[in-house]
Amino acid sequence: MNLSTIKSKILASKLVSIVTHHNPDGDAIGSSLGLANLLKKQGLRVEVIVPNTFPLFLNWMHGVSQILDYEKSSTKCDKLLASSDVIFCLDFNATHRIAGVQKAVINSEAAKVMIDHHLEPDGFCDYIMSDISASSTAELVHKFICELGFQNDIDKNIGEPLYCGIMTDTGSFKFPSTSANTHDVVSDLIKRGTDNAKVHQLVYDSSSIARLKLIGHCLNKMEIIENRVTVFSLSEETHKNLQLKKGDNEGIVNYGLSIKTIDVSVFFREDKEIIKISFRSKGDIDVNQFARTYFNGGGHKNAAGGMSKESLNGTIKHFRNSIKIFLSE
Ligand code: 5GP
Ligand code: MN
Repeated sequence: MNLSTIKSKILASKLVSIVTHHNPDGDAIGSSLGLANLLKKQGLRVEVIVPNTFPLFLNWMHGVSQILDYEKSSTKCDKLLASSDVIFCLDFNATHRIAGVQKAVINSEAAKVMIDHHLEPDGFCDYIMSDISASSTAELVHKFICELGFQNDIDKNIGEPLYCGIMTDTGSFKFPSTSANTHDVVSDLIKRGTDNAKVHQLVYDSSSIARLKLIGHCLNKMEIIENRVTVFSLSEETHKNLQLKKGDNEGIVNYGLSIKTIDVSVFFREDKEIIKISFRSKGDIDVNQFARTYFNGGGHKNAAGGMSKESLNGTIKHFRNSIKIFLSE
C-alpha cells in the first residue's frame, strides 16, 4: 500500500485503533497518544489499546484516561480490533511484542500500519514506516503526520506526548540515536505549543519516595564484573517490602553506565513466573545481539530487553557466563 492509499483509508475509517507493545514505556504511550489526538482532530473515532498497564509517570497526557488495557477489558478490545478499519502498530516490530492482543490484531481485516524503529521488522503490516536510525517511534510519528499533510494541526495535546516519547527514548537527548532531525522535530513541537520543561518535570521529577529508596537499595547491592559490567537486581520480595508501583524501577539500569569504565549495564527483575531483563551499553557493544543470542529478547544496539524462566540467581549466573564469552569475542 502506498501513502496516498493508506491516507484515504485512514480518513474514510469509522474506527481507527492504535496498539503498542507490552509493558508500554514513554515512547509507546507518547507516540500512541500523539497520533490518537492528531487523528481525533480530523474527526475520526480512535481507540488506543495497550497489552497491560503502564507507569504512573505517564499518566498526565491528553487522552490518557481513555486508553484501554487489554488485561482489564479483553472482550471489548477484541470487538474493537475486529471492527477497526485501520490498526496502527506503534513501537514494535513483531506481533509477539503485544502479548495477549496478538491474536486479535493478526485476525482483524483492518489495514495495518507499522510505525517503528526496532531492527528487523516482521512483514505483518500493509504500510510500514520503519527506520532503525530514528531516535524513537514518536519522532517517526511526527514524520508520518507531516507526510499526511497535517503538520499544522500539531498542538500541545499532540506535541507533548510526542515530546515525551522522544525525550524518554533518547535518555533526555543523550543517546547516540539523537540526531539533528530529532532536534528539528523537537523544535517544531516546541514552536507549536509543547512546554518542554513541564514534560521533563512531569516525567523525571515526580518520583515516589519508594522509588528513591529502591535506587538506594539497588546501588548498594550493585555487582561489578571485570570493571566493565554493572549488575542490578530486584526480587519480588523487595518489590513488596518497598511497596513499589509500576514504573518505580524504570531507568535504574542506566546508573551503571554513569561509571567511566562500565560499558554494559543490566537490570534483572523478578516478575511473577519470569525474570525480566534490561540491557544497556555504550558505543559499539551490541546488547540487542546479546539479548537475542542469550536471553530470548532484542531491542536496539545500546538498549535491549530479554527474559528468562530460570530463578533470579540462576539467571544472573547464566548472565555472568554469557557476558564474559560475548565480550571476549
Ligand atoms: P527496556 O529495558 O526499557 O524494557 O527495553 C529496552 C528496549 O528493548 C526497548 O526498545 C524494548 O522495545 C526492547 N525490548 C525490551 N524487552 C524486550 C523483549 O523481551 N524482546 C524484544 N525483542 N525487545 C525487547
Ligand atoms: Mn521506542
